[in-house]
Amino acid sequence: MINYAKAPDVEQIAKHIINVLNLKNIDPERVSFYRSTGSRARRVQARIHGLGRIWFDALKIQPLYVVEVISEEFDKLEPPEKEKVIIHELMHIPSGFSGGFVPHKGKINRRSVEAMHKSYSEASRRISST
Ligand SMILES: [Zn+2]
Repeated sequence: MINYAKAPDVEQIAKHIINVLNLKNIDPERVSFYRSTGSRARRVQARIHGLGRIWFDALKIQPLYVVEVISEEFDKLEPPEKEKVIIHELMHIPSGFSGGFVPHKGKINRRSVEAMHKSYSEASRRISST
């Protein structure tokens, strides 16, 4: 049985990343952050959930996303690794915030995540030193 709880700590990191990297395509008010426990998935640290676009029309709501971190895998990571996991999930959100996903293929991989994390680390250092 999987349990879900709001993850304000993850939300805080994600919002900082969104701000610092100025990710204008992401509406932070429409991304929720959850921590799950009891998942059988091993070596999965996080995932992003959405709905098919037809649901947003049927439910008369704006697109939204849910980022879930898997406690057993995510919580043991060092802070920079947690940031990379969150960056990876945020990279799945497309430029139009349409409710769909950016696929891994050619776009989201170790290298692109590392590059984005490097920009994030440098920019947050610049911000905190001013
Ligand atoms: Zn992914």
